[in-house]
Amino acid sequence: MSTAVSVDVLIMGGGIAGLWTLARLKQAGYKTVLLETDSLGAGQTRFAQGIIHGGTKYALTGKLTASSEAVADMPSLWRDCYKGNGQLDLSKATLLSEAHYLWSTSSLTSRVSGFFASKVMRARTNELDESVRPELFKHTDFKGQIYALDEPVFDAMSVVRAIAEPVMESILAIKGDTIKYGNDVLSVQAQDGGNYEFSFEKIVLSAGQGNEGLLSAFNLAEPEMQLRPLKMVMLRGDLSEMVFAHCMGASVNPRITITSNRDNNGEIVWYLGGQLAEEGVARSDAEQIAQAKKELAELIPWLDQSKCQWSTLDIDRAEVKKQGTKRPDTFYAEHKDKVITVWPTKMALSPLMAETVLKIINDEKISCADDELPSWSKPSYAILPWNEEQRWLM
Ligand SMILES: Cc1cc2nc3c(=O)[nH]c(=O)nc-3n(C[C@H](O)[C@H](O)[C@H](O)COP(=O)(O)OP(=O)(O)OC[C@H]3O[C@@H](n4cnc5c(N)ncnc54)[C@H](O)[C@@H]3O)c2cc1C
Repeated sequence: MSTAVSVDVLIMGGGIAGLWTLARLKQAGYKTVLLETDSLGAGQTRFAQGIIHGGTKYALTGKLTASSEAVADMPSLWRDCYKGNGQLDLSKATLLSEAHYLWSTSSLTSRVSGFFASKVMRARTNELDESVRPELFKHTDFKGQIYALDEPVFDAMSVVRAIAEPVMESILAIKGDTIKYGNDVLSVQAQDGGNYEFSFEKIVLSAGQGNEGLLSAFNLAEPEMQLRPLKMVMLRGDLSEMVFAHCMGASVNPRITITSNRDNNGEIVWYLGGQLAEEGVARSDAEQIAQAKKELAELIPWLDQSKCQWSTLDIDRAEVKKQGTKRPDTFYAEHKDKVITVWPTKMALSPLMAETVLKIINDEKISCADDELPSWSKPSYAILPWNEEQRWLM
């Protein structure tokens, strides 16, 4: 026995992209349901470092690129949401840091000064005197320069919770291997065993890596997806401070990007990305940890690593396919008939991406359905990687 449910918009995938879209469409009055095959945030979102980029990282060449233009307004948009007067209410999310920092070692100082002296960057950053630096960079052995970037850092899962909680009645946890599409109906089995048949005016595919399988279920060969693998590193143990900073290296990408969280025991965890994670995919776990130790010893020589516990984690970024190995400049949201496919490319860009989806749907002039949704069991939230104790056993 299946329950038939008719909606205006069906959304597949409860990461940041699907959830932001769900909240915006519901605000606009559309009857919208989101289906999630795992737990909310279970894809890339729980692995995000949570930096709301304002484009600085992309402008490291000294000139603005399409990606830095697109993200320039995101810090203020997210801050407004956090203050409770933005397009969504993120006042219950955790703001980990008001700013992300960028530092150089003494050997790289001249390059960084030249870059920050450029007109492009003067408005976005400011160099910090010793008195206002993060504690780590007040150390007498620190010889480089440090700048504050106008880029807040959020705990990604706290954002997921803040968005999902008020719209939870519209989210259904389903079994991934039961999704079937035919005769304009998508049938699924819920994780609690109930069967549902959804009819819809539009469907938004926001399943990250899962979009590829969904597109083939809709007989669509395009858009194509690309995966960019990363090998991130985590460390904990006697770290005295939360750090949020990129270290500028010789290339356009930061040599290392450090963000920090507290694990369930309240212990500080440093989470390392940047070039270390991109190049780390060619290394074994042990080699990657050795490399991370070497990098930190070189970049922060006064850090005592002796009591640290280390771990690596492998995760793919899923994005729209670009020619060669290029990364997309901005979010992707395109539609063909009933299907709208999205990848935000960055968590930071989800609001812009959701706005585009809303516009596509408004332009289609869908008349809003108004009958009630059945009540069903709520999905759970994904666990942050540093709280999965088995990851630390290596
Ligand atoms: C290591 C790392 C660090 C990052 N750091 C940052 C950062 O600092 N700042 C930033 O802006 N961005 C960052 N990003 C990018 C950001 O995390 C992603 O752009 C964003 O999380 C993608 O969100 P999404 O909702 O599209 O996908 P996902 O988070 O992958 O969500 C997809 C969801 O769909 C579900 N699903 C899969 N298949 C199906 C199906 N068939 N039906 C229904 N549901 C399905 C999955 O379970 C999942 O919950 C980072 C990414 C990585 C990997």
